[in-house]
Amino acid sequence: MNFIPYGRQQISPEDVESVVSALKSDFLTQGPKVPAFEKTLKDYVGAEYALAMNSATSALHVACLALGVGEGDWVWTSPITFVASSNCALYCGAKVDFVDIDPNTLNLCPKTLEKKLKVAKEQSRIPKVVIPVHMAGQSCEMREIHRICQEYGVRIIEDASHAIGASFEGEKVGNCRYSDITIFSFHPVKIITTAEGGVATTNDIDLYERMDLLRSHGVTRNQKFFDNPSHGGWYYQQVDLGFNYRMTEMQAALGITQFEKLNSFVERRNAIAVKYNELFGQLPLKIFTPRDRITSSYHLYIIQIDDHERKAEVFSKLRESKIGVNLHYIPVHTQPYYKKLPYSEIFSCPNAEAYYLGAISIPLHPGMTEEEVEYIYNTLKEVL
Ligand SMILES: *Cc1c(COP(=O)(O)O)cnc(C)c1O
Repeated sequence: MNFIPYGRQQISPEDVESVVSALKSDFLTQGPKVPAFEKTLKDYVGAEYALAMNSATSALHVACLALGVGEGDWVWTSPITFVASSNCALYCGAKVDFVDIDPNTLNLCPKTLEKKLKVAKEQSRIPKVVIPVHMAGQSCEMREIHRICQEYGVRIIEDASHAIGASFEGEKVGNCRYSDITIFSFHPVKIITTAEGGVATTNDIDLYERMDLLRSHGVTRNQKFFDNPSHGGWYYQQVDLGFNYRMTEMQAALGITQFEKLNSFVERRNAIAVKYNELFGQLPLKIFTPRDRITSSYHLYIIQIDDHERKAEVFSKLRESKIGVNLHYIPVHTQPYYKKLPYSEIFSCPNAEAYYLGAISIPLHPGMTEEEVEYIYNTLKEVL
């Protein structure tokens, strides 16, 4: 048995051909492939606009800026996420706090959000933005989160880095029905890949135009943004302080052919998850199954072992058996950088901390064979 990684990209001959054709074309960046990729994506999820960038982290950053996040503002997210979901707010000079998870979904808990907003209102500490994270590919309760945020005037960015191809109440994650902006990641362990890359979707033209400016230096050739008439055909203006967060043509070319396989990847991930659910049901551990009305893209398959004391031992034994177990995630608020923030004493996420004690991610990717699935089950059973 070869080492089984927890996640891995699937690159086909069409992907290779697509990237090579971009390399041989007139444009390596700022050509036609990026807008073509953006169109494919926005049509698929059912949003008005999509903006491709060099990572989901960059997309989260410009999404926060587009919503006006700055010094003195608060941004809230889930503690069980990759650090990028909260770092994006710190980049803007804002402060971060965490809304504890629902231990059954691993997503930010709407009830906790509502309670926390009530308290925040009394203290005039209402966040400008909340960033729910669709953990492991299962959508958060977006209708509920949206209703609560509307009541308190809070904007929403969905961190759907795990959730391209997932759906909520029969509609694709990313259509922004219940949010201002949705972010996807195309890092190689995610559902489809552009090597590095991310996309922001929105239905709001102002947010779209602002994010478009910010991803490319704050420089524009669109007269609409000029503060004086154009000097001629060469003219451009810098109207904001932006970044170079652009995606290349090679990345977009890869994204376009990867997209053709998105549905089959998600189906295969779901089929493996169903098999794991059947097998693992008998073992001394907790499994997570998606709620009604939700189709998960199953970016991750997470278990929580009952005997927390044995987690480190179980983890090493599985690694020694060439099973690429992993952990998603160490609660962000317990990271040294976050603990050193001057207001860190307010962080309170007991559910996230309890989850961390037993959690292990088991390999799940569309290239896995039935033998590998069986091998993982048998090894886990033996180790436990
Ligand atoms: C991967 C990931 C990111 C960051 O994505 P990049 O494209 O690597 O910048 C952000 N949030 C979550 C939840 C992720 O899993």
